[in-house]
Amino acid sequence: MKYLLKNDKRNYPATGEWKTKKPVISDKCIACQKCVRHCPEATMFMKEENGRRKAGVDYDFCKGCGICAEVCPVKAISMVKKDD
Ligand code: SF4
Ligand code: SF4
Repeated sequence: MKYLLKNDKRNYPATGEWKTKKPVISDKCIACQKCVRHCPEATMFMKEENGRRKAGVDYDFCKGCGICAEVCPVKAISMVKKDD
């Protein structure tokens, strides 16, 4: 998997543990980056998977707010229970 945009420094404590829901990104993603721009935790990034660009989430820092799912124009993001 090749990361196209990602902060890999990770020089800050993980803060995503207390979330109750997490976003799951399906193959419907058209790589528009809207979710990346709107995530208030700046925890989303673009990656390349099987030759396709797709959004990804760093769950260590995601708070489960669901904004990414709300703004996605093609409904590619589902919010599911954190432990699913
Ligand atoms: S649920 Fe919220 S914090 Fe998590 S990736 Fe989506 S917008 Fe960011
Ligand atoms: S907003 Fe939706 S379509 Fe756009 S990059 Fe994010 S998941 Fe993919």
